[in-house]
Amino acid sequence: MTPVLDENIEAIYQQVKSRNPGEEEFHQAVREVLETLGPVLVKYPEFARERIIERVCEPERQIIFRVPWQDDRGEVQINRGFRVEFNSALGPYKGGLRFHPSVTLGTVKFLGFEQVFKNALTGMPIGGAKGGSDFDPKGRSDGEIMRFCQSFMLELYRHLGEYTDVPAGDIGVSGREIGYMFGQYKRITNRYESGVLTGKGIGWGGSLVRKEATGYGVVYFVREMLRTRNETLEGKRCIVSGSGNVAIYTIEKLHQLGAKVVACSDSGGVVVDEQGIDIDLLKTLKEVERRRICDYVKYRREAVYQPGGNIWDVPCQIALPSATQNELNGRDARTLVRNGCIAVAEGANMPTTPEGVRVFLEAGIAYGPGKAANAGGVATSALEMQQNASRDSWSFEFTEQRLDEIMTGIHTLVSETAEEFGAPGNYVLGANIAGFIKVARAMLALGLI
Ligand code: GLU
Repeated sequence: MTPVLDENIEAIYQQVKSRNPGEEEFHQAVREVLETLGPVLVKYPEFARERIIERVCEPERQIIFRVPWQDDRGEVQINRGFRVEFNSALGPYKGGLRFHPSVTLGTVKFLGFEQVFKNALTGMPIGGAKGGSDFDPKGRSDGEIMRFCQSFMLELYRHLGEYTDVPAGDIGVSGREIGYMFGQYKRITNRYESGVLTGKGIGWGGSLVRKEATGYGVVYFVREMLRTRNETLEGKRCIVSGSGNVAIYTIEKLHQLGAKVVACSDSGGVVVDEQGIDIDLLKTLKEVERRRICDYVKYRREAVYQPGGNIWDVPCQIALPSATQNELNGRDARTLVRNGCIAVAEGANMPTTPEGVRVFLEAGIAYGPGKAANAGGVATSALEMQQNASRDSWSFEFTEQRLDEIMTGIHTLVSETAEEFGAPGNYVLGANIAGFIKVARAMLALGLI
């Protein structure tokens, strides 16, 4: 059953729905936060009086633009570009760019909304935003990717700046795309403004550990969740959905900490490797050759590829959804619980449906929502901004140490908040409330913004 909202909050939710018609993912992300905010308004009546929730649900600025470019055959292609600058109470807008054919304004709004609270949880001085395009990079040549990125930046640049808005990568946007966009920004503005984009390459302003950070951070978060239950990662059987940047470095860190990942996936199917996923092979296939995971079994005879398979049917103790939104539903959650899963942490943004979340919470397993568990990526982007601002670059060890401290700090903040608000162990409530309070306090302090 869907939980009922407190009367005033229900009215706010209805207004969000009518003001943003058809944007279901955005409604879902807003509802999930609003469901947990009732007790906050009781404790802080000034938040209600000053209409903080209504303000937080309305982006500060939304930019939609045409992205024309020419493909390799000389044909003109038109895509749509977005940047939703959601909230800048805590710092410049910060959040990734997603290039995927499924991207709509609703997608970008849901991601931007989540980013506001995630970024607040990191404790770094960053506001929240998200952007992207319905451009499909699959099968595109390097030249096409470059021309698209240049055209995209030809409009976006005027909205960016190291003190204004700082994009990074997300699905379909990695070091290569950030490079093309940074090059175009530099050319248009005639400024080597390193801090305007994060996820840059090492050697031209990027930070060590940024590439690994989201995945590594998820694993540190799991380590902390298990610690509260007197458990460790040692010997645990894990599954990680997806096979992109987040999945790859989640698998790498799980293996380093003694766990065994037996399955990963992409939109075409699932690879099950009982010996443990071969991370070097996965990196070569995905990062170097940009191939699909069906090819994995060509090099590992003992592994099995299940075309169209459902990864959540593979029995495990720890599940890490690291592909995309709503990839794990109520049925999947019940399967995981039935198969003895004790912990779930989200590398992707909103990968579990509301019904799936309820199943995990009711079963009492350790469930770390994306806002908290995958905040390591954006936190390390903030570390990249610090290095850029001081024209410095830190060692891998030092940067990873900072990431570990930030993730451990988020776990502590979220757990303590859940306890303070009467729901010990409920990381969903803890993350939403802790993130919201930080943003709300800053908004009150800054006057009517
Ligand atoms: N796209 C990532 C996220 O979902 C990272 C954003 C960033 O580094 O700005 O948090």
